[in-house]
Amino acid sequence: MPEHLSVNEAQQRIIKKLKPGLIEEVGLIEAPGRVMALDAKASIDLPAFSNSSMDGYALRAEDILNASAENPVTLQVIADIPAGKSPEITVDAGQAARIMTGGKIPEGANAVVPVENTDQADKFFHIELGREVKIFKAAKHGDFIRSRGQSVRAGEVVLPSGKVLTPQDIGALASLGISRVQVYQRPKIALLTTGDELVPPGEPLESGKIYDSNSFMLAAMVEQYGGQVLRLGIAPDKPKSIRQRLELAVSMKADLILSSAGVSVGTYDFVKTVVEESGELDFWRVNMRPGKPLAFGNYRNIPFIGLPGNPVSAFVGFLVFVVPAIHRLAGLNETIWPRIKVRLEHPVESDGRETYFRATVRKKNGQYLASLKDHQGSDNLVGLTRANTLLIIPSGVKSLAIGSEVDAWLLGSMEFA
Ligand code: AMP
Ligand code: MG
Repeated sequence: MPEHLSVNEAQQRIIKKLKPGLIEEVGLIEAPGRVMALDAKASIDLPAFSNSSMDGYALRAEDILNASAENPVTLQVIADIPAGKSPEITVDAGQAARIMTGGKIPEGANAVVPVENTDQADKFFHIELGREVKIFKAAKHGDFIRSRGQSVRAGEVVLPSGKVLTPQDIGALASLGISRVQVYQRPKIALLTTGDELVPPGEPLESGKIYDSNSFMLAAMVEQYGGQVLRLGIAPDKPKSIRQRLELAVSMKADLILSSAGVSVGTYDFVKTVVEESGELDFWRVNMRPGKPLAFGNYRNIPFIGLPGNPVSAFVGFLVFVVPAIHRLAGLNETIWPRIKVRLEHPVESDGRETYFRATVRKKNGQYLASLKDHQGSDNLVGLTRANTLLIIPSGVKSLAIGSEVDAWLLGSMEFA
């Protein structure tokens, strides 16, 4: 095994070992953010019946071929068709039916003239139906008619498997009368935090200790990207404690075990050793910055990803490796990052590894300008909160001049200047 894998190779190796989990059926209320496990097909046409897209009059286009404001055509009004009613009339030559938006087009009619183009514009809100209407404008066949099946045909695939359900998808399913969908189960991600120095926030901080930030941040990220968190708690730096918690993950049937810290080369970095006792490590170093110590393998056949302990490195490692892993387990077909091209506001040095720099990007004169100032230190989470992008400096690049164009992942909102 090569000493240091490239980021891409490491990502591929992880993805290859993972596959989506079981399928479950959920109602539309629980469906947002879930991933379709089967194609959803329409069982009805949409619209299900031809209907009016305007408030106006349904009529026969051939009756009003020469209608104009100077030469209006007078038609006999034979019915009123509000939305939700099924008209039981036929519009014959010389006739029209008052119709509301969404109203069903009656037999015989083939066009709608909006009320604005009739003499009824200021009387339309009257419940009583006038006996006649004067039409001021000609119409073509199909004008202002949403015809049956023009949006969707029965049998058509409306949402493919692998799609994350957005609010508009949920609305589309509802419009087709679909109330339940087959989705993948949300992958269960067991979260192990290790370190003798860690104290939960809310408790007093003794000398030499730090607050555990990773377990909170990583749990939030697991939720954000579609997983369910199984909390294994904080393990002290002792093989026995680490082993106990990994066994807990096995008994909880985790789909992926995620650990923070303890995978480097420190004297007390026991996570790697414990994983290797009951599983194997595929790799534990990636040629990237931050986050070189990044382990992947399995513990009793449950995939395992060991993130670095430094919070910013853990954050970046999560985005680069764990997000695609969760997506794969969750049934998504791919991970797409919202990314933009930005220009450096100052020169940047790198060390040749693929590097993810925290930066602040702002828009000025139509360009995205990136500044790396104020965000140093892989322990500085508050600095990370002030950054709105991660700049990606490709491997092999050691310096970039001011004005160079760089890829950036969007993390937060951008200040427009
Ligand atoms: P390690 O990977 O154990 O060498 O840890 C690297 C650095 O990350 C050390 O400074 C740790 O104190 C810090 N660290 C480890 N775990 C956490 C955590 N859960 N929250 C905040 N910092 C941590
Ligand atoms: Mg440690």
